[in-house]
Amino acid sequence: MTGLDVVVVGLGALGSAAAWALARAGVRVLGLEQFELGHHRGASHDHARIIRRSYHTPGYVRLTGLAYAAWAALEWEAAERLVVTTGGLDLFPAGSAIPPGPYRASLEAVGVPYQWLDAAEVMRRWPAFRLDADVRGLWQADAGIVPAAHGTRLLRRLARRHGATLLDRSPVTAVHDHGGWVEVATAGATFRAGQLVLCADAWTGDLLAQLEADLPLVVTQEQFSYFRPADPAAFAVGRFPVWIWMDDPSFYGFPVWPDAALKVAQDVGGPQVTASTRGFEPDPAATARVAGFLRDHLPSAAGRPDHSATCLYTLTPDRDLALGPLPGHDRVLVALGAAHGFKFAPLLGRVLADLALHGGTEVDITPFALDRPALTTPQPQANYLV
Ligand SMILES: Cc1cc2nc3c(=O)[nH]c(=O)nc-3n(C[C@H](O)[C@H](O)[C@H](O)COP(=O)(O)OP(=O)(O)OC[C@H]3O[C@@H](n4cnc5c(N)ncnc54)[C@H](O)[C@@H]3O)c2cc1C
Repeated sequence: MTGLDVVVVGLGALGSAAAWALARAGVRVLGLEQFELGHHRGASHDHARIIRRSYHTPGYVRLTGLAYAAWAALEWEAAERLVVTTGGLDLFPAGSAIPPGPYRASLEAVGVPYQWLDAAEVMRRWPAFRLDADVRGLWQADAGIVPAAHGTRLLRRLARRHGATLLDRSPVTAVHDHGGWVEVATAGATFRAGQLVLCADAWTGDLLAQLEADLPLVVTQEQFSYFRPADPAAFAVGRFPVWIWMDDPSFYGFPVWPDAALKVAQDVGGPQVTASTRGFEPDPAATARVAGFLRDHLPSAAGRPDHSATCLYTLTPDRDLALGPLPGHDRVLVALGAAHGFKFAPLLGRVLADLALHGGTEVDITPFALDRPALTTPQPQANYLV
């Protein structure tokens, strides 16, 4: 292929969104994915991801507003409803490892409404919860579910409709920045383009190494589990919210969706791995931890275990996104979701397209710069629970 404007490496949620936004803007874009499209080896598979306004900085709260708008634009183009609003409950036991103050202050600073509930009120509204009296709940009505595998597939479908070429089973084996253009090689071909967008998540380090660059990323093998409650109607969308337990360990869960089981997981609960050393077998100890949490706090949800599966988190030390030009390589853009990026995928696609086409974006992405101290300080202090 010749005459390419942009090559996108990696076609999970972020790369698919970038290909969509770039192709939509009229750019000649090639997307390369090393495995089959929709594979289960990365971070964008399975049904559900949480989308929420509640975050610990005003910047993120503002970004979530833009994220919802980007999902709405995608819904409009696809003529399909994608965001399932359930409301969201962040649960803070007294002295929680994740303090509520920054969440409340950030929502207030941006003017996003929320309710601060005591444990009795949480249990009155959602009787399935069993909470100690010292737990507080932050209720935000806009939170909900975005479809993971389906949304990613849709982004690719729309990208192709706008003219993008997306190739599966095409591992990128070499990347060169020639200054005036970039070159990307797979086993069978070499492609030249004006810009390169790396959306390789757990494999990012391998590609950066080709450009003599590095980021202090940690990859962990995570796990999610589905349970079938005896009374699924009690956990249906409309009756039960998405929720996050804001302590260490931190757990999160969903209503029954899309069918008869509900999903629960521990956040950053798995071992450090690499994309090539990770396994795929669920860890019974991890399943036992989430089952134990359900027995303690949501006993009627702790029904028959349905199945568990694994996925990869790719974490920055501050758990902030990484987004923007690779220092020293103006023609190379990098995007990392830092294991909370799915909700931002359509927005990040648009930002990447703005950066590739115009060299800038109206969205404030300065906190996510690749040369920020958290990514450049030797041996940075990691804090994943934010
Ligand atoms: C269990 C779990 C729960 C999560 N929960 C939430 C949530 O509730 N809310 C939320 O917003 N986010 C959540 N996230 C995070 C979110 O899902 C991820 O940030 C997002 O899906 C990452 O997308 P990605 O495209 O960057 O990565 P991936 O989907 O992993 O895609 C990267 C792609 O790059 C390809 N690739 C890599 N190297 C090469 C190469 N050399 N050549 C070609 N292709 C290559 C890979 O094969 C892969 O397909 C969760 C993540 C996990 C794992």
